[in-house]
Order: sequence, then C-alpha cells, then structure tokens
Amino acid sequence: KAKKLGKNTYQIFNASMNTETFKLFSLESDLRKALELNQLELYYQPRVNATHHQIIGAEALIRWNHPDWGEVLPDDFIPIAGKTSLISQIEKWIMKQVCLQNKSWQDAGLPAIPISINISPQRFMDKDFVMNIKNVFELTKLEPEYFQIEILETSLLENENIVIRVLQELKEMGIRILLDDFGTGYSSLLSLRQCKGIIDEIKIDRSFIYELSHSDEENSNFITKTIIDLAHHLQMDVVAEGVETIEQQEILQGFKCNTIQGYLYSEPVPASEFAELLIKGKIEPASEKKETKIKT
Ligand code: C2E
Ligand code: MG
Ligand code: MG
Ligand code: MG
Repeated sequence: KAKKLGKNTYQIFNASMNTETFKLFSLESDLRKALELNQLELYYQPRVNATHHQIIGAEALIRWNHPDWGEVLPDDFIPIAGKTSLISQIEKWIMKQVCLQNKSWQDAGLPAIPISINISPQRFMDKDFVMNIKNVFELTKLEPEYFQIEILETSLLENENIVIRVLQELKEMGIRILLDDFGTGYSSLLSLRQCKGIIDEIKIDRSFIYELSHSDEENSNFITKTIIDLAHHLQMDVVAEGVETIEQQEILQGFKCNTIQGYLYSEPVPASEFAELLIKGKIEPASEKKETKIKT
C-alpha cells in the first residue's frame, strides 16, 4: 500500500510540475513576443501633496496589452516573469522608457518631477544592474534626481550584503530609494532602523490605509501612526498608498503624512493622460466616494 501511495504521489507531483512548467513556458514566450511587438505599456500614477494638491512625483506601472486577453495587470505576469530571465529584460525596457519619457516631458517644458519604477528582488543579482542604469542616464540625459526606485522588503531580506552594496552605489549616483508596500513583509519596525541612511522614503501599504476608515479599532490607526512617527524619526519620508477617501487623507494628515498616492487623486493613467495632469500641475481630490474592496 505504501508503495502505491508513493507512486501516486510521485505522479501527482510530476503532473502538476509539468503544468507549471508549461504555463511558465507559454507565458514566457508570449511575454518575449510582447516585448518585441510593443505590447507592454507604462501607466503613471501621481503622488500628490495633500495640502496644495500639487503633483510632486509619480510611479510607473506596467500593463500588458495582450491581443487575446486584453489588458493584463502586473500581478498576473510579473511574478511569473520573475522566475525567468525575462524580468531583467522587461525591467531594462521599463527603466529606459521611463527615463526617455520623463526627459521628453521636461524638454517640452512640463514640470520636472521624479518618477519611480518598481525593481524586483531578482534584478539585484544582475551583475550589470548598476552599469545599465548609468548607461540609461548617459543615453537619455535625465538627471538621476528625477529617477527613483521602489524595492520590496523581501529584496532586503535576501542576499542582504549584495543588495545593500548596490543600493549604496545607486544612492551615490543621486537616486532615491523607496521601500514599497511597507508593513506587509516579514520585517518589523525594528529592522526599519537598520535601513536608516539607505531607505529615503517608505510607502505605507494600502491595507493599512484601508483600515484607517474601516476598522473601529483604535489600535489599527495607532499602528499606522507609529509607522509614520518611526519613519520620520529615522529621517525617512512617508507616502501613503491606496488612499481613496478624503476621510483617509485627513487622518493621514493628522499623522503628519502629507504625500498621497491613490484613486482619491488619480488611478494610474497612460502617458498622454498623465502629461495632461502634469500640465495642470494640480489635481482636485475626487469628491465622491469610489472605494475598492481590499483583496485578502
Ligand atoms: P505597487 O508597486 O505597490 O503599486 C501600487 C498598486 O496599487 C498598483 O497596482 C496601483 O494601480 C494600485 N493602486 C494605487 N492606488 C490605489 C487605490 O487607491 N486603490 C486601489 N484599489 N489600488 C490602488 P498595479 O498597477 O496593478 O500593480 C500591482 C503591483 O505590480 C505593483 O504594486 C508592483 O508590485 C507590481 N508592478 C507593477 N509594475 C511593475 C514593474 O514595472 N516592475 C515590477 N517589478 N513590478 C511591477
Ligand atoms: Mg510600487
Ligand atoms: Mg506598493
Ligand atoms: Mg504592491
């Protein structure tokens, strides 16, 4: 009996592995084509000052316009691309694209703002990562102060020494480092202390912002306030992600967090639409409530 169970287990394992491998393979080849056929597109979401509603920065977010499936969101292909060498090609493309775009907006006389891109943990293992960034600055003539990178807490946990060394090189070039989705990873408030001097700004995860107006518990607001206070104490700036309501924004302002990224001001929009926002410079917060349920 034991032998039979063993055999079945082996078969199940083998079958599921094949499906996974197959999915990975077909998605990888589709993505490879997407790069060649220009099916990847960058959307931009503004970061806004809560007091005067001025756009003070933006985040570039990737979209895949798939010929059969329509718009594919990054959560559905970036993690898979991350298992292959394609992630590195995609992120190189994004980096160059964002720098070219930002420089051309500046050359056209639009307000100069920093734009951040998301960097996957795998990218830190590329030996040519820093060199590639230097080359892009040379090619596009964009000043490094207008380029920022967002990393996840998981990036800091794996291969810590290499990652810290790379981040320090980037900082010496004048690039600001943002810690994305803060509070969702494994690291604690204590380990944020170790990031002093490396992380310039933390992005409080959307799940905390959602709690601000949906939980009766005093504690949930207190946690958010504590994160903000600690970041400030460590000389880090703070941006709140996923802000959808005026109520959430007001609570955050009360906690001295004045930089907002969320649907309250704008969803991520295509480059041409973002340029229009940038020309206006200011965005009025949405007056009516349009809330999204948090995915758990
Ligand atoms: P992220 O970097 O934390 O990006 C913020 C996500 O929250 C975006 O989802 C954005 O559309 C969404 N968001 C912003 N404000 C609100 C709001 O008020 N309400 C709600 N419900 N959502 C809001 P998106 O664009 O689907 O990206 C998801 C994740 O995919 C990103 O999370 C990031 O981790 C990853 N990603 C996106 N683009 C790239 C990329 O170019 N490279 C890498 N490595 N990852 C990327
Ligand atoms: Mg991000
Ligand atoms: Mg985030
Ligand atoms: Mg995220």
